[in-house]
Amino acid sequence: MKRVLSGVQPTSEIHLGNYIGAIKRFVELQNEMDCFFCVVDMHSITIPQDPKNLYENSLKLAALYMAVGIDPSKATIFLQSQVPAHAELAWYLQCNTYIGELNRMTQFKDKSQGKEVVTTGLYTYPVLMAADILLYDTHYVPVGEDQKQHLELCRDIAIRFNKKFGETFIIPEPLIAKFGARIMSLDDPTKKMSKSNENKYSKINLLDSPSKIKKSIMKAVTDSESEIRYDVKNKPGVSNLMTIYSVLTKTSLEDIEKRYEGQGYGTFKKDLVEIVISSLEPIQKKYKEIIESGEVEKVLKEGAEKAKEVSHKILTDVKKKMGFVIF
Ligand code: ATP
Ligand code: MG
Repeated sequence: MKRVLSGVQPTSEIHLGNYIGAIKRFVELQNEMDCFFCVVDMHSITIPQDPKNLYENSLKLAALYMAVGIDPSKATIFLQSQVPAHAELAWYLQCNTYIGELNRMTQFKDKSQGKEVVTTGLYTYPVLMAADILLYDTHYVPVGEDQKQHLELCRDIAIRFNKKFGETFIIPEPLIAKFGARIMSLDDPTKKMSKSNENKYSKINLLDSPSKIKKSIMKAVTDSESEIRYDVKNKPGVSNLMTIYSVLTKTSLEDIEKRYEGQGYGTFKKDLVEIVISSLEPIQKKYKEIIESGEVEKVLKEGAEKAKEVSHKILTDVKKKMGFVIF
């Protein structure tokens, strides 16, 4: 059975971009493949985190994984920091990664821009991500479009390692959706929707209240026309809202255009508010039940055991191949 691995950072609330570009697709994959879904808490500390928030956000994200439909009896859900092999392999891989390669990473450039201090962890983040993936003999990595470059680096590192030390790693393939892999910010549709954007109206979080959802959509930047037309270049704001509409209702873009012909942005936005609220309602209800049931920690403990078992095999192989003494 082919294996899948992916992760989300517990940096703050999970938004519609994370859901559409990644988590929603995790749910679809769990029936077809052996899936590992990780809360990548070690990635999130590449940017300063308040320890209390990190703790809470990690458990919340695991609960959200389950609330959207990831079933712990089908997929392995775990916290990255509970499996020390991730940090260990990241070091071995760092010693096989070049500074020139990391210098080309656009996420580092974006996230370090204008910051007074930048951690070396933010710089080496893509190598930890490569370790996450390679540790599990992963075939497929479902991610949003923004992670494409990191995936390419992961493949390059794996290919280089295999050449130098002999066949060790499976070369993973990214699974990037043809549509919805880059949901844009509501306040600036030229930027991707991001957890790290401080403007709360730039995004819709999965746990947002109906009034926050309404306000975010009604405030969303569009353009000076009034036509509902999918045109990413000239109408990025409306096109982004149409993408969200289309994914959540499984309606084609052409049908949306037809449905709103001759109607302004107001009607379209009001309908989208209702669509988003009703799509998130069952997730929020399930989330509440999961939190109240207290089952999250048990799921994470079992997940970590399974993840440790699988990753230990690959890590040991790596160490042997590199020449480490193993007793
Ligand atoms: P941060 O700003 O902290 O980096 P983020 O919103 O980029 O947060 P991540 O935890 O880095 O979220 O990414 C989790 C997953 O969500 C990844 O697969 C990523 O590609 C995907 N993703 C993130 N933002 C979007 C987006 N705007 N549209 C589609 N997919 C996205
Ligand atoms: Mg990100």
